[in-house]
Amino acid sequence: SKVKTVNYLERLKRFFPKDVLDLLKDIGQFSEKLGYKSFIIGGVVRDIVLGKQSLDIDIIVEGSAIDLIKRYAKENNLTYHVYPEFMTGNIVFPNGLKLDFATARKEEYDSPGSYPKVEKATLFEDLYRRDFTINTLAIEITYSNFGKLIDYFNGLVDIKEKRIRILHTLSFVEDPIRILRALRFAGRLEFKLEKKTESLLKHAVEKDLLNFAPTGRINLELNLTFKEEKVLDILKLMDKYKVLYKLFGITLDKEKEKLLVKLQDNFLILKEILNTDFPTSSNYLYVLLSNYPQEIVYNLLKKYHFEKEAKYIDEFLSAFKIVKESQNKYTLYRILKSFNKEFLPALMSFLDSNKFKGIIDVLKKEKNPLIKGEDLIELGLKPSPEFKTILEDIFVKYLNDQFKNKEEAVSYIKNKYLKEVK
Ligand code: ATP
Repeated sequence: SKVKTVNYLERLKRFFPKDVLDLLKDIGQFSEKLGYKSFIIGGVVRDIVLGKQSLDIDIIVEGSAIDLIKRYAKENNLTYHVYPEFMTGNIVFPNGLKLDFATARKEEYDSPGSYPKVEKATLFEDLYRRDFTINTLAIEITYSNFGKLIDYFNGLVDIKEKRIRILHTLSFVEDPIRILRALRFAGRLEFKLEKKTESLLKHAVEKDLLNFAPTGRINLELNLTFKEEKVLDILKLMDKYKVLYKLFGITLDKEKEKLLVKLQDNFLILKEILNTDFPTSSNYLYVLLSNYPQEIVYNLLKKYHFEKEAKYIDEFLSAFKIVKESQNKYTLYRILKSFNKEFLPALMSFLDSNKFKGIIDVLKKEKNPLIKGEDLIELGLKPSPEFKTILEDIFVKYLNDQFKNKEEAVSYIKNKYLKEVK
């Protein structure tokens, strides 16, 4: 009854595009007709308060989410999915927006860190099982209370004061994955751990609680971490709080930090040249674990279910070895052609600037060769299997800087290949 509420109607109007706001109103109206209360909650509300863009909308229904989804979707002829055993589901709208719904529920943990069982509950109970106060805010969308922000746990103050705070003393014991989530949010939002939360987190790490968390959930959490924009800050926090040590037996020294900075640069540089995104987990993990012998890296990756990353560690290390030994750009080119480019960002973090520039040069030239098949035809050569040899010949000379520009390559072709044809 002492719950804090704030009128957020104006904020909602400013935050959501009009079509989304109208949708939420419509759902709120529908919900009221069914006798249910509905709220947007969690990450999106946190982001509304922070003024951070987000359309990841989670709706909690006091009543039945499944019933609401089915009736609303049928009445409006929309695509929907329901998962009755979890009391969750979603509706997909023609504009591509997807809204996630869940019945307000509580979760029973059988043992620390295990997957919970669910049962119906009130909004308060639903929010009480959540990780941090910053994620406990709700905004009602039910017609008669549309825009009412509900703050049971002082989340609003914690967001304003940039604090990550757990809801109760046993939070990290109940679910040690929250240790990782706390640091991920702290790094992402540039928040600090509130004092008591910090000491409980330290204690939980000390007590080795991460070892009680299912390794599959650690895998999920790490994958999310490596996708964060502020991944380096998060890793520094994971180092500071000994989480990297507990998970992998590693610490972040200056040397490794430098490698990680290079890795981040490499993602950008390579994306610019090759126009593709690179997988983040494998590249970060190969750099983080680079002090270990191969077998230990392999076992650690397997332990946390990085199957693909474990599978390619061998290829990564042999590629690295040959790249280091390669003597000229042509060999680099051959090597680059023969192995998986996915872990190039990590590999390049370990190279001296000569080799690094060599690879960049090879990739750029490969993307933009001086001479293409169409140029040969234009020069009067008839398409034939020999084209491949000619193009390769030109490309190798281009790689080795024998041609400065297209004209030089053309005159070489005229001299060598056109005369022979005649
Ligand atoms: P984002 O999507 O921006 O990373 P989010 O807050 O939406 O952040 P999710 O991982 O999608 O994060 O989780 C949705 C909500 O579920 C969170 O706001 C949080 O309240 C709750 N939650 C997720 N994981 C846990 C957990 N391990 N313990 C307690 N609550 C959790």
